[in-house]
Amino acid sequence: MYDVAKIRDDFPILSRKVNGKPLVYLDNGASAQKPRVVIDAMNKAYEEEYANVHRGLHFLSTIATEKYEAVRGIVARFLGAPDPEEIVFTTGTTEGINLVSYGWAAPRLQAGDEIVLSLLEHHANIVPWHFLRERQGVVLKWVEPEADGALDPGKVIDAIGPKSKLVAVTHMSNVTGTLVDVAAICRGARAKGVPVLVDGSQGSVHRPVSIAEIGCDFYAITGHKLYGPSGSGAIWISKDRMREMRPFMGGGDMIREVHRDSVTYADPPMKFEAGTPGIVQQIGMGVALEYLMALGMENVAGHEAALRDYARQRLRGLNWLNLQGDAPGKGAIFSFTLDGPAHAHDISTVLDQRGIAVRAGTHCAMPLLAHYGLTATCRASFGLYNTEAEVDALISGLELCHELFA
Ligand code: PLP
Repeated sequence: MYDVAKIRDDFPILSRKVNGKPLVYLDNGASAQKPRVVIDAMNKAYEEEYANVHRGLHFLSTIATEKYEAVRGIVARFLGAPDPEEIVFTTGTTEGINLVSYGWAAPRLQAGDEIVLSLLEHHANIVPWHFLRERQGVVLKWVEPEADGALDPGKVIDAIGPKSKLVAVTHMSNVTGTLVDVAAICRGARAKGVPVLVDGSQGSVHRPVSIAEIGCDFYAITGHKLYGPSGSGAIWISKDRMREMRPFMGGGDMIREVHRDSVTYADPPMKFEAGTPGIVQQIGMGVALEYLMALGMENVAGHEAALRDYARQRLRGLNWLNLQGDAPGKGAIFSFTLDGPAHAHDISTVLDQRGIAVRAGTHCAMPLLAHYGLTATCRASFGLYNTEAEVDALISGLELCHELFA
């Protein structure tokens, strides 16, 4: 039984007031709040078990290393990935995708080679490929979403031509909530011999993920959206692709031997993790993922699907509100504009006065906003602790905006 009131008690920040009103936190797409178990585990790590990892033979370094390394196994379990050695720690999805761009794509792609992208992508899954366009003449090939925001896997597969070397696609849009059938894309891409990178920054948060079922080559996640700390994250990379990769950043921890004239590297995944990592952050992410697995991602998905349906029905009832992309089966993420002069920032400010946190702007997805002919939207993004009463609070806040600005 999914007891949302009990779950809310796990998140200390949810009981605070903002502008004199109970906090209604609907900015989970940007970053989620943290349960007490994560905060406590991080405090404990700093207060009792902190030292650098992999370096010392002393007591504290050994405990810190064990706790930190155990997170690889937790991430693998969370992602349904067979082997913890295929998990590379990062600071988030942005770093994971840059690692693939610098470490796998840059040495392999030549001028005229193509990367197939969808227009739903976040800048984190666009700009690292623009680097290759600017520096190496790589061509970006864009696939547009349907009118309702859905992405047709057939169109992505059709876009893969003889010059295509990579497909880079999101699992879930952070703007429209569109859930992408990445397994179908991977099947089609595999048949054409082209690897697939999946941006799992949103997709991993709202439903169970199985790398084995998706069949991709790279899957990147972000700890702070998964109810863990900022500065934590990971990317799953298949063994085959790891073998093809050169290191991205150089420094301590990623080497085997360093001489005046030569260097050899540690085995993956350490080969791709230079310098002192976010030790306590990754430990915190591990606790957050354990928390999610204890709740059950199926249960989280069920709760959020009910919230999505309720929010969709209430938002569609506002005939002066325009939803951008509202595909069936999407996540509980809604982007919208209001008829009339109200800018997304105005709406967000009025809502904030009522304690309601939403995001306003381009959501790091300028090509998608341009496709819709917009420069900004408001976004309400729900998480595992949100309630129907919070949907109602959003709706009455929007009704006030309509009265103020119409
Ligand atoms: N991809 C998507 C779909 C996102 O929503 C985000 C963050 O908003 C990112 C990538 C980047 O994540 P991070 O900033 O944690 O690296």
